[in-house]
Amino acid sequence: MTVPKYDPILPGAVLGVLGSGQLGRMFALAARQMGYRVHTLSPDADSPTGQVADREYVAEYSDMDAIRTFASGVSVVTFEFENVPSETVEAIDRIVPARPGDNTLHVAQNRLREKLFLRAQGIPHAPFKPVASFAELDAAVAEIGVPSILKTAGFGYDGKGQFKLRSADDSDAAWTEVGMQSSVLEQFVPFDFEISVVGARGVDGACALYPPIVNAHHNHILDLSVSPSLRLNQNQAAMAGDIARQIMDALDLVGVLCVEFFVARNGDLLVNEIAPRPHNSGHLTIEASVTSQFEQQVRAICGLPLGDTRFVAPYAAMANILGDLWPQDGMPDWAAGYAVPGSKWHLYGKKDPREGRKMGHITAVGTSEENVLAVVRQARAACVREQTTETW
Ligand code: AMP
Repeated sequence: MTVPKYDPILPGAVLGVLGSGQLGRMFALAARQMGYRVHTLSPDADSPTGQVADREYVAEYSDMDAIRTFASGVSVVTFEFENVPSETVEAIDRIVPARPGDNTLHVAQNRLREKLFLRAQGIPHAPFKPVASFAELDAAVAEIGVPSILKTAGFGYDGKGQFKLRSADDSDAAWTEVGMQSSVLEQFVPFDFEISVVGARGVDGACALYPPIVNAHHNHILDLSVSPSLRLNQNQAAMAGDIARQIMDALDLVGVLCVEFFVARNGDLLVNEIAPRPHNSGHLTIEASVTSQFEQQVRAICGLPLGDTRFVAPYAAMANILGDLWPQDGMPDWAAGYAVPGSKWHLYGKKDPREGRKMGHITAVGTSEENVLAVVRQARAACVREQTTETW
């Protein structure tokens, strides 16, 4: 048995989470169930995490006094999103461990650094070129070709800060769209479908992986997830797991991490993105796995043994509920949705159902891929407007 390098942080301790959305909320719920207390800090009041935490600090991530006060009241700090200034992470780390650490966040919060990291690791990814000026964009388009996607290097998610170039004439529009800032031009991958692998790594370097999850997006935002899936063969599943483990080891990660892949038409796997935290696609682990991705995050950052990632049912699916699906004239018919047998509901306590905003999700577990997908779609259609997804 491997002996942890640090004394574990035991139940009764206070855990800190920076960021206060639904990922922090589900982390806090898991932590509370395990006997911990939770403090959260973000610029928002009455946040999804704050509603279920013991204490909610409302401050900017750059407010160093608030950050120091927050860190002084907890035993460890984790993150529910990666776009935290590195001075903030360093300030926390001088008081209590920040897990994952600044090295991991530094790579994951910038697409260019992420892609250079993948290249250095020899991990397959779409061909790309860094772009820092319009002249560089022109040269990159000549080299990478079209179709291709221009993506801002920093602070992008869910397809934000992206422009698809269909011809070399689109360069002008693309450069304007990304705000003329440091970007990456990436070859468009005509993929068959997309998958993600969620994994965790402890302070002792032990890793645990969940089975790959097959994902369908709508308007660049995750719509449906299912796991396992007959669309993926065993070799691909094993290779995806090996790549996720390699990434966690190379980053010396402590925490949870998700790797998103394109599955190309010839079956090859290409890494699209790394998120050093629990992931939307991993929400189905709450019902599907012995240990959810959020319990795993608590275990990893506290230096406890990682939990069992096996599924307790053969299949699981998840459907996101976005603000766009709200009925025009009022509230979703929650009771009708809750009435659908087999549906498990998670609403995040957000009041304002804006376009593209993740308001909640539904999970189902069962004995076939078709059945679990049908349950989550039926439950969603029963209470909000029906979503038409691009892949399924
Ligand atoms: P991202 O924000 O990079 O994860 O992109 C969001 C979504 O846009 C992905 O999940 C894909 O569906 C699509 N996308 C991004 N990059 C590419 C690419 N190089 N080729 C094809 N589709 C892409």
